[in-house]
Amino acid sequence: MSATKETLGFQAEVKQLLQLMIHSLYSNKDIFLRELISNASDAADKLRFEALSDPALFENDPDLKIRIAFDREARTLTISDNGIGMSRQEVIEHIGTIAKSGTREFFSKLSGDQKKDAALIGQFGVGFYSAFIVADRVTLTTRRAGLTAEHGVRWESEGAGDYTLETVDKPARGTEIVLHLREGEDEFLSDWKIKSVIRTYSDHITLPIVMKKTEWKDGVEVPTEEDETVNKASALWARSKKDISDDEYKAFYKHVAHDYDDPLAWTHNRVEGKQDYTSLLYVPSHAPFDLYDREKRHGIKLYVRRVFIMDDAEQLMPQYLRFVRGVIDSADLPLNVSREILQSSKDIEAIKSGSVKKVLGLLEELAEKEPEKYASFWKEFGRVMKEGPGEDFANKERIAGLLRFASTHTDTDAQVVSLKDYVSRMKDGQTAIYYVTADSFAAAKHSPHLEIFRKKGIEVLLLSDRVDEWLVSNLTEFDGKPLKSVAKGALDLGTLEDEAEKTAQKEAEESLKPLVERIKAVLGERVKDVRVTHRLTDSPACLVTGEGDMSANLERLLKAAGQAAPTVKPVLEINPTHSLVTRMNAETDETRFADWAHLVFDQALLAEGGQLDDPASFVRRLNGLLAMLPG
Ligand code: ADP
Repeated sequence: MSATKETLGFQAEVKQLLQLMIHSLYSNKDIFLRELISNASDAADKLRFEALSDPALFENDPDLKIRIAFDREARTLTISDNGIGMSRQEVIEHIGTIAKSGTREFFSKLSGDQKKDAALIGQFGVGFYSAFIVADRVTLTTRRAGLTAEHGVRWESEGAGDYTLETVDKPARGTEIVLHLREGEDEFLSDWKIKSVIRTYSDHITLPIVMKKTEWKDGVEVPTEEDETVNKASALWARSKKDISDDEYKAFYKHVAHDYDDPLAWTHNRVEGKQDYTSLLYVPSHAPFDLYDREKRHGIKLYVRRVFIMDDAEQLMPQYLRFVRGVIDSADLPLNVSREILQSSKDIEAIKSGSVKKVLGLLEELAEKEPEKYASFWKEFGRVMKEGPGEDFANKERIAGLLRFASTHTDTDAQVVSLKDYVSRMKDGQTAIYYVTADSFAAAKHSPHLEIFRKKGIEVLLLSDRVDEWLVSNLTEFDGKPLKSVAKGALDLGTLEDEAEKTAQKEAEESLKPLVERIKAVLGERVKDVRVTHRLTDSPACLVTGEGDMSANLERLLKAAGQAAPTVKPVLEINPTHSLVTRMNAETDETRFADWAHLVFDQALLAEGGQLDDPASFVRRLNGLLAMLPG
């Protein structure tokens, strides 16, 4: 076997991450042990699963465990497991690089402020590198199960710029990590300290964590030959709720979710009946960096009778709940269940539907009893929840009840208004739930379409998330009331307007008929129609799309994303009470009139966030008209 040792450079991000981690997490340094134990436990789960189809991987050593030992003289702490291990290629991919999606975004958010950065790094996940918080050299020796002894790999690094890699003999499969402790980190050379950290952070690990028993001899603690299991080593979710403390639930979450922060809430249920299964599902406090990356997600771990089957069992949670973390342990599924089988399994359908109901129930409870927590949940995951009505038809009404929006009632961009709140504030005679969509909160809030609603004190939901267009195309009513865009179709406020108002409008329409015809003739193909409106109080004009047409905002979103979208011709509506409109009506110079007409159309387009096809002409016309102002 060649003893070649190569030196490889870390990815630039790894260096930065290491620096940041060592400094910002130092005050919470004990967590390195949790991270390494968590990895070892995952490695054991993976082995157990692969061995279902290839029992030879056990190599006559089926008792999976994690061993922790320390050597006071050498000042080392060693964590070893007999899990799946890694091949040389896997070591390079998993230990030398950060393959996470969202890495670049993460680094761009770092501010240099240690406190803020520490919170961010927690969201990013700390993992293996946390070893360098307490160690100035880490040696990892590993061999993948199934490969022969000479395929061992040794990785070593001082956590600065590079690491070395060499091929070594490793008779026992699995991974051994030796931490050469930094000066001053001697507390981790104590049996008592290590055990207390394990019990605090890793008690829930299903695998036995084994240490040598120690005894006191001449005032020093020395290891004996006898082993002892330090943790409870039973699956947390299989225990009875009343025997599990909040801290245990939180510690378990950090392990399954690879998250540094506490979860926001959880629900733990044992379901018996047609399907026998246990679910322990968590809602994180923060959105992960890869929430919008559909390729990569850690979601639900599936177990069958305590045997880990797979990570990220996407069949168990719909997309709009993809932030949910946790485990589902089925008593009925076969151990050899594959992703393909999951896709068409009726049992899985039933488990999924039951689990979704538990999560929705948890969120409803949060919304009702802990509104502050719910508000923080909404900030993190609201945009994902808005995908729900389009995806989960069966639970549409429940999801709708969980939605929160910005509205003209609060006039801030905080999404705190529920549809139920809205309905309770509806005016006498109001039959619809009104909303406006725009590509920014400011554009929505200042939309000319809101003028009449503001005047009459009718609340309008202000929608400016990208997903909102998708939402309103799928959620067309709530509590029997239609959701209606204020920018679509002719405005009909029904009994919200009195007879005098209606008569005044009729008169205005009559008297401005010639003006409307003149504008139509000038704008030609630019518009579908021109008409007099009463929805405006301050603006001279606005654009409206047909009832069944795609909204202008959606058309812009699609086009910006490079997708095909039909060009919908808008209706131009003019405000009969505006002085600009009066002035146009009196304009006798046809060239100047044409400038007015185009200008009014263009500014209505700008006001709703649209883009001009020909900005130079707009500027020329505007300047021409400005130059006419008396000096
Ligand atoms: P994370 O666990 O969040 O993915 P880590 O940096 O902790 O990030 O680990 C990166 C990867 O290295 C793991 O996903 C796993 O594939 C591999 N790994 C780490 N520790 C072990 C181990 N003890 N046994 C086998 N593989 C491991």
